[in-house]
Amino acid sequence: MKYISTRGNIKPTNFQDVVLMGLADDGGLIIPESIPDVNDKIDSWANLSYPELAFEVMKPFISDIDDVDLKHIIEKSYSAFPKNPAPLKKVSEVYVLELFHGPTLAFKDFALQFLGNLFEYILEKRDSHLNILGATSGDTGSAAIYGVRGKERINIFIMHPHNRVSPIQERQMTTVLDDNVYNLALDGTFDDCQNIMKELFNDLEFKREYNLGAVNSVNWARVLAQIVYYFHASFQLEKTTGSREAIFSVPTGNFGDILAGYYASKMGLPIKNLLLATNENDILSRFFNTGIYNTSTIRHTLSPSMDIQVASNFERYLYYLVGEDAEKLRSLMNEFKDTGSLSIEDLDEKLFIASACNKEQCLKTISTHWQENSYLLDPHSAIGVYVAEKFNNGSIPTISLSTAHPAKFSAVVEKATGDSSLATHPDIDQLPNLDTKMVTLNAEENLVKEFMLEKLTF
Ligand SMILES: *Cc1c(COP(=O)(O)O)cnc(C)c1O
Repeated sequence: MKYISTRGNIKPTNFQDVVLMGLADDGGLIIPESIPDVNDKIDSWANLSYPELAFEVMKPFISDIDDVDLKHIIEKSYSAFPKNPAPLKKVSEVYVLELFHGPTLAFKDFALQFLGNLFEYILEKRDSHLNILGATSGDTGSAAIYGVRGKERINIFIMHPHNRVSPIQERQMTTVLDDNVYNLALDGTFDDCQNIMKELFNDLEFKREYNLGAVNSVNWARVLAQIVYYFHASFQLEKTTGSREAIFSVPTGNFGDILAGYYASKMGLPIKNLLLATNENDILSRFFNTGIYNTSTIRHTLSPSMDIQVASNFERYLYYLVGEDAEKLRSLMNEFKDTGSLSIEDLDEKLFIASACNKEQCLKTISTHWQENSYLLDPHSAIGVYVAEKFNNGSIPTISLSTAHPAKFSAVVEKATGDSSLATHPDIDQLPNLDTKMVTLNAEENLVKEFMLEKLTF
């Protein structure tokens, strides 16, 4: 399998190279040259373990890693999870796929554990090194840190706005004491962190000389790892209901998680619909209902990991929507860049159905599910369940993806239920007792650069 860009201006590239590339060099997103059809294989996958299934799903996309090595990378990545990493539970009339049993209790672990091990493998083969630089407002930072902690050829520098991420999120990052992990608490906002990151990546000499890399949500390997659990969910459903066909509801921010469902569907998994659930930052929900994709100002909600202004993975879907026509896609993206808006005439979309969920609806969903089903949802997962129930008509089962453990957002759970003792997890409860490591700096590019130069060991 070779990879190309949605904007059409890179030459066909191997998997290992696109993993290191992240964003395509022509500014587009990386996509596989074709999407493998697995219809003739699905039946034989029904009883595989999660790592075995992951191997089968990923293999057609990866031609430049031996089977033995790929199996090893996958096994290592999911060894940090329980034996069933993504259990399916019937909660009300809808099912919930629990994706929060990884090391940082959020679904991003599925992709970032895999990406960390892939980096390690590729760097070893090439006798090379990587310095990862990232900015986080919360969740991605800890999952990225856990993905690469202790890895020899990798350093990771994660900036967060000092005292502006939740205490739990801060502790999840700063209690990782490995030598290759650097937490930088900047006196400023998340935007300041992001701007510094952009400036440093634009410093091409610095970037090249020190092998600066990112772990952002557009990395193809992250999307690929997420395709697996759609198959895994369908097989679990089949064991209880006798049928594999499902509707999936996905709490959506950057469109990475739900895009994986789109690929699963194109590969041949029987997905009736993908329900796209957003919070008040509803650019995607508005698009699927009107055909117009336009930015508005960011709102801070109870589900911060879905507070986005533009959805970084959306361009991949648009590429398929315009018939894999890179030129057409380029002109749409230019229109969007110039005007903050793009539109698709007569949008005819049968797979995706989208809806937003506001703060009150989110809180109500958490409290109702606790009272009626003794099931605790975190605010992100509650948005998925809200939309799942809104469209559920009982004919085809709906599986809602649960993206974070409620203990990560215990303050919201308390607000919804009135009880502060419900949302707990031993890993979260012990965070206040652990040692921490971080540095605080003024939010200035040159200070961050100096700090990195001082710490770089390769
Ligand atoms: C990142 C995240 C999301 C959104 O996923 P996307 O792939 O960005 O759409 C939802 N819930 C949680 C808890 C997250 O961390």
